Formats: sequence, structure tokens, C-alpha cells
Amino acid sequence: MPLDPGARRAILDAVAALEQESVETLARLVRCPSTLGHEQSALEEMARIYAELGLTPKRVPTVPAELASHPGFSPPLVPYEGRDNVVAVHTPREARGRSLALQGHVDVVPEGAADIWVTPPFEPSIRDGRMYGRGAGDMKAGIVSYCMAFKALALAGLQPAATVQMQSVIEEECTGNGALAAMLALPRTDAVIIPEPGPGLPAMYSAEVGVVWAWVTVTGRPTHVRDMQAGVNAIEAATAIAARFKDYEREMNKAERVHASFRGVNHPVNVNFGTIEGGEWNSSVPTRARIGMRVGVMMGYTAAQTKADIERLVAEAAQDERLRGAKVALEFKGFMADPCVFDMQSPIALLARRSYAEVAGAELRDYPATGLTDGRFFTLYQDTPVACFGPDAQEIHGIDESVGLASMHDITASIALCIAEWCGVEKRA
Ligand SMILES: [Zn+2]
Repeated sequence: MPLDPGARRAILDAVAALEQESVETLARLVRCPSTLGHEQSALEEMARIYAELGLTPKRVPTVPAELASHPGFSPPLVPYEGRDNVVAVHTPREARGRSLALQGHVDVVPEGAADIWVTPPFEPSIRDGRMYGRGAGDMKAGIVSYCMAFKALALAGLQPAATVQMQSVIEEECTGNGALAAMLALPRTDAVIIPEPGPGLPAMYSAEVGVVWAWVTVTGRPTHVRDMQAGVNAIEAATAIAARFKDYEREMNKAERVHASFRGVNHPVNVNFGTIEGGEWNSSVPTRARIGMRVGVMMGYTAAQTKADIERLVAEAAQDERLRGAKVALEFKGFMADPCVFDMQSPIALLARRSYAEVAGAELRDYPATGLTDGRFFTLYQDTPVACFGPDAQEIHGIDESVGLASMHDITASIALCIAEWCGVEKRA
């Protein structure tokens, strides 16, 4: 729906007028240490923000029993009580335009070694136009952008002339079950915008890999080190199993296995050993070791196939001479996520590109991502087009994560124009 130039100007002026409030809102969200199982404060903050927008926040629980038969479900890591997703829905006086969902995750990955951050990870700090803090870029700035975009319309005396859903969800970083629960709890919309950060340059997600999380636990045979030959060292055994996965990773990155949508991406399929625990004492052969890993899934393969590959590799590794007498257990908890390709020619993707170009004077490049987003749920299971693009973030999942504030304002303006054009506008009552 074409937007008249006066309304366009008023919306962009409103975004500019909201810059300070946007930064303050982002700081409030970054102060919430919303790692897995501790998302409550961020979810409460979202409920407050939605209420301030004049909407009625609703809680959407994540109930494994209700989701377990869905193909997008991943085995949970922790219980869901007290961590309900928060959604809000704008209803127009007269629905004339197309409906839209604005989605973002409030969970963040662990801060890592807090002692090597320049400033503490959950104390937002602004330096050279960037806000530093865990989650600032991934993806609290994106959430602020969609909220402030909606507010900018209101400040301009307008509101969307179609249903607009806002979904703040948990567990994007480990299962996606929060997104799945929220998606299923609400009616399907005509399009979805997810302001996830890009690769450090203006970009829109064109594809993403899938991911499977697996946990290998080796129980060896403990002895005093003087009888070391009689024991089975669980840490060495776990390391031997892990080595198999590096060969697998090499194989999966061979040119003939890489899907067309990932051409030109260096090493798109990654196997990461993310956690290791085990052992009891420096002078005892360790009884038990556990490795947690993340295995990428190339487009063209499924999470189920990858799970079968992992089972085969671990079973083969268990036959290794060095593992004789050891017990090897394999568990799948966390991501069981299929890869997907986003339709870059969908009307919402084209509108987002045009809006961004107008606001920022730059084109959004196609971004085939070697990580994943919640966008897969809408694409794979609902056939709803997704535009996934967000502010310039650096060191996400690393030390000194930051987001460019000017780029956050550009994303806010782009989303505001997208909402206005996609949904149409009506005068605010
Ligand atoms: Zn993210």
C-alpha cells in the first residue's frame, strides 16, 4: 500500500525523535542477564514495553508435551516453568492491509570470561557510538527497533491498518522452542520480520544452516596413574571420539556437498566442541568425561540425517582400541533444527530491501548464514515469508559484544516504513 509522502516524513521524524528513548530502552534490556533459564527479567521488561505501546502483553507458555510431535521441536535442556514467552497483538479499527509479525528472542548466550570484557557484560556501556554488552547486538537492539518502529507510527498520529503481532521468545540460542510455541499460539500472519544482526555489514538472511546438539559421555575405568595401563582414560577417550567429527566436518564442507545457496561461503558447516567436563584429580585416571557439541546441517540434509550420522560416528569411534572397556553414551538435547532458504523475492523481503536502501542509502546483501535464527519455523512449517535483517553487531557470542547505535536507528526507520507500507495506516483514535 503506497504511503503518502507526508506520513512517510512524519514517521521518519518520529523515529529520529525516539533515538534517545531507543538507546535507554536497549540499556534496560541489556541489564537483564537473560541467559538460559534466567530470562524472567527480560521477559518482564518486554511486557512493560508492550504495555507502554498501548498493547496488552500476553504470556505464552512453552509446553513440551504440546510441541513434541511438531517437526520443529527440539529436546529441551531445562524446565520451562516461570519463563513464558511474551506476545502482544495490535488490532486495527478496520483491517485493510496485510498482517505482520515482529519477532525477536530475549535470551542471550553466556557472557564467557567476564574478566576479559572491557566493561562488565551486563552493564551496558556506550563507546564511539556503540553499545557494549551481552545481547546488545544479538538481538536486543533488534527488539528495540521493532518496538520503536511501532511507537514511531503512533507518534506520527498513525497505527497499522492490519493486525501486528509482537513476539518476544526464549531459547532461540539452544532449541527454538519458545519461537515454536509463540508461533503456534497465534494466527498465521502474511509476513514476518526478525531483526537479527547480520554479518557485520548490511545484509538480509538468504539461507541458514541447521544445527544438531549432541552430548557424548564416556565412562572409563579409573585407576591410580601408576596402573595407568589398566585403566581407560575417559578424557582421552572423549577426545578420540571428538577427533572423528573433525573428519566429518571436512567431508561435509566439500564443494559437492555445499548447497547452491551457500556458494562462496568459506566453511559453511561447522562442528563446535562447546563444553567439556570430566575428571576428578590430576593423579587419577578420569572416570567420566562429557563433551557437548554443535554440528551444522547443510541445506539439502536434515537434522534427522545428521543425528543418524552422529550416532554412526560415535558407534564407530567406540570400537577404537583405546576405548576398550569404556562405556559411551550419546544424548540429544538442544537444537534439532533443519536448515532453510529464505525467499528473497517475497514481497516482504523486497519491501524491506527498498525501505532499508531509502533510509540508509545502502543495499542489503544476501547473507547465507552459518548459524541459525527462529526464521526457520515460519519458513518451513508455516510457509510465511520472513525478512530477517538487523543492526550492525560485532562479537556476538564473543567478548565485548556491541551494536552500532546509528545502525539500530536505521533498522528502526526501515521497519517503521515496512510496517506502514505492508499494513497500511489509519489515524490513531
Ligand atoms: Zn540471535
